[in-house]
Amino acid sequence: MKNCAIVGINWGDEGKGRMVDLLTEDYDIVVRYQGGGNAGHTVINEYGKFALHLLPSGIFRPGVVNILGNGVAVDLENLWKEMEQVMSQGVALTPDNLKISNRASLVLPWHIKQDELEEARLQDKKYGSTKQGIAPFYSDKFQKKTIQAGDLFYPEYLKQRLADLLEWKNLTLTGVYGADPYTLEHMMDYLTEFGEKLKPYICDTVEFMRQAQDDGKRILFEAQLGALRDIDYGIYPYTTSSNAIAAYAPVGSGLPSAKLDQVVGVVKAYSTCVGEGPFVCEWFGEDAEVLRKAGFEYGAKTGRPRRVGPIDIVATRYGVAMQGATDIALTKMDVLSYMDKIPVCTKYIVDGKETDVFPFPAALAEAKPVVEYLPGWGTDISSVRKWEDLPEQARAYVEYIEQAIGCHITYVSVGPERDAYIKR
Ligand code: GDP
Repeated sequence: MKNCAIVGINWGDEGKGRMVDLLTEDYDIVVRYQGGGNAGHTVINEYGKFALHLLPSGIFRPGVVNILGNGVAVDLENLWKEMEQVMSQGVALTPDNLKISNRASLVLPWHIKQDELEEARLQDKKYGSTKQGIAPFYSDKFQKKTIQAGDLFYPEYLKQRLADLLEWKNLTLTGVYGADPYTLEHMMDYLTEFGEKLKPYICDTVEFMRQAQDDGKRILFEAQLGALRDIDYGIYPYTTSSNAIAAYAPVGSGLPSAKLDQVVGVVKAYSTCVGEGPFVCEWFGEDAEVLRKAGFEYGAKTGRPRRVGPIDIVATRYGVAMQGATDIALTKMDVLSYMDKIPVCTKYIVDGKETDVFPFPAALAEAKPVVEYLPGWGTDISSVRKWEDLPEQARAYVEYIEQAIGCHITYVSVGPERDAYIKR
């Protein structure tokens, strides 16, 4: 497949990074098209264990070109720190295998500050931001009030632009929040320090992608966060501030004319959700704690315990539709091995009626799950590599989910390691 997107079907943390790391073998280019350092993809391979926040997950494959597209929220300081960390573990990062779009806008220190101040102001009504500045960043981007990476090559223009933005941003920081203002000197120092380190990687990735397409290169588009966190189609306002869905991949990656030949939607064999917002199938108490521990469900970025529950067919079918998924990768099947019976949320009850249609966000808080059970398989499956070697009950679970969500499950992942999967 030439153009393939790997996307999350649910609330995020489905194991996208693990699937990109696996599938990059067949691709020449991996491009991140949205989001910033506010989530983490965990990748385990021969170099060790990594929590990637900004770097594309193809960074470990020799010969693969990794791109941070124009839709990404680029935080120069955090990106540099992540690069240093990855390089210290023996992975080579050069302008040949890592390219940052000159059209990508920059997350600036004041975005992070504003994010913190706003979450503090909201108190118990907070959105559960990871405080990486993402919401203030995207709102500024769409107000045309931030810096583009390519501006770093035009120092006079950059200084003037920064001075104008500073004047505007300080009005909010000091006036609304009573915080200290930023100075031009501080901001120029910051951009000079990290800009100089990253300038070698910044280039015209739109031209690069056009050329790559003409040359018939195989391109993998990597999403950050799942469909239910998409700004337009997710559980607004508990969403991210950009489009996480596959339809945005061409726009955010610098190849707006691209057609996706394949969309691999990643679904976890049970549900998890980080942060605030409605989560209909949520478990509490002892059952939740056991599942959380079994799946090691703690945020890659924040270490926060994730909310957990059974797989949610209503939400997953909706996510599949919003993503236009052509294939599903079902991850973490091995985690369910301890269960005698496997719970599945098959429907919701909304206004006293059963429904299998994912409700409008404001109606979600009142929705109740209808849970059914399938037989468990009662044995460790983490070393299984062939479909026919899976216990019958595990195959029945996969087939049930496949039929219920209406999309072919092509990969079943049974462990975090690169080779711990079954292809059907
Ligand atoms: P992403 O943001 O979608 O890439 O997901 P995360 O990296 O936040 O979460 C996925 C977690 O599950 C990571 O710790 C992975 O190493 C781990 N993981 C992925 N697939 C499997 C699997 O099939 N089984 C187990 N046990 N762990 C997995």
